Amino acid sequence: MTLKTLTDTLDLDGRVVFLRVDANVPLDDGVITDDGRIRAFLPTLLWLSQRGARVVLASHLGRPEGVPVSHLSMAPVAARTAELLGSPVPLVPGVSGESVWSALEALAPGDVCFLENLRFDPRETSKAASARLELAMEWASHVDATVVDGFGVVHRKQASVYELPHVTDAFAGFLVEKEVEVLERLTARPDRPYTVVLGGSKVSDKLGVIEALLPTVDQLVIGGGMVFTVLAAQGHAVGKSLLESDQIVVVKGFLALAGNLGVDIVLPTDIVMAESFSPEARHVTLPADQLESGPAGSEALGLDIGPESAALFHNAISQSHTVFWNGPMGVFEFDAFSHGTKAVAQALTEVSGLSVVGGGDSAAAVRSLGFADEQFGHISTGGGASLEFLEGKHLPGLEILGWQPPVAPS
Ligand code: ADP
Ligand code: MG
Repeated sequence: MTLKTLTDTLDLDGRVVFLRVDANVPLDDGVITDDGRIRAFLPTLLWLSQRGARVVLASHLGRPEGVPVSHLSMAPVAARTAELLGSPVPLVPGVSGESVWSALEALAPGDVCFLENLRFDPRETSKAASARLELAMEWASHVDATVVDGFGVVHRKQASVYELPHVTDAFAGFLVEKEVEVLERLTARPDRPYTVVLGGSKVSDKLGVIEALLPTVDQLVIGGGMVFTVLAAQGHAVGKSLLESDQIVVVKGFLALAGNLGVDIVLPTDIVMAESFSPEARHVTLPADQLESGPAGSEALGLDIGPESAALFHNAISQSHTVFWNGPMGVFEFDAFSHGTKAVAQALTEVSGLSVVGGGDSAAAVRSLGFADEQFGHISTGGGASLEFLEGKHLPGLEILGWQPPVAPS
């Protein structure tokens, strides 16, 4: 079975549709600093509203831990949604209960409202399936169908994403449909050469992805904080750079596997070594096998790949026909250490074929470095979800919508 999607034959006129989105936007003092996640679900919202559905938008925002917290109210999100939509989107002051049900009954066909932050109710993310089901059943007796358009949450069993689709008619929205389509092209039939670029800060988080990807990729490019564990596994001293010593043995394992499978592992040949972790830190570029040879010796820490590596990575990436990138090449938040990340982003824009950026920080990095979303084939809205998809893990929020992971070739 494949994903159940929105089709023209669906009759939604006058129906109450629960539209689960990922509107977990960054907030600074109640002001939305990036509305990308709201813009991302607008096509689905518009489509439903134009078909006469009575739309109940629902999302989480931050981590209120099951109690109402005023600074995590959905109010600014509802207001911004209304601006983008060009029609009113009132906030319903709750997640379930009598005042919510009467607000839903008052909706006319085409009307839109926003529920309060779903995580104000502890049952949304409860570990107890019975608690989640109880909340879902309350919603189910007041809505006719569920549409899930929040890709960032489909890897979680939560009441609005898993139990509710179980007890009502349920469909994937256009954003989820697009995410699945793009990620399936990566897992099933990538145009070759297929290159995966990994960086960021946590090796242990990403090792599972590496192992799952090795049999399908042609090249694996590694930079960022995670590269120092790889360099250490090759016997190089890395000073005070980020290092997960307990992962060295695992890294050795995947390096050997890559060798057996004929996968090229592309590693940096030079590193920008800084005297401290700060935007103003003094720094020198050193060969990757002599990282402690600078003025700060073994006290230095690697905060970016060097210019020679940036050129090497640029070539490896831009000549590929399919590229997936997760994790910045350096501490891009500091200008002085953003060059490697910028070079990789630039290379992705030059790929003739499919280029995909996944991961919260990676997406933020390309935008803050001045790139436009349109320069990439796809920017995944769900970091964790896209990695779990590529690892071939079970994604409950997709499976409940009829999707099955492709059968692995034997
Ligand atoms: P994503 O959110 O895209 O999956 P991660 O969360 O894994 O990415 O990693 C992002 C973080 O990694 C950034 O905050 C960045 O500063 C950090 N980082 C990248 N390179 C280094 C490095 N050499 N040393 C320390 N931190 C690094
Ligand atoms: Mg991150």
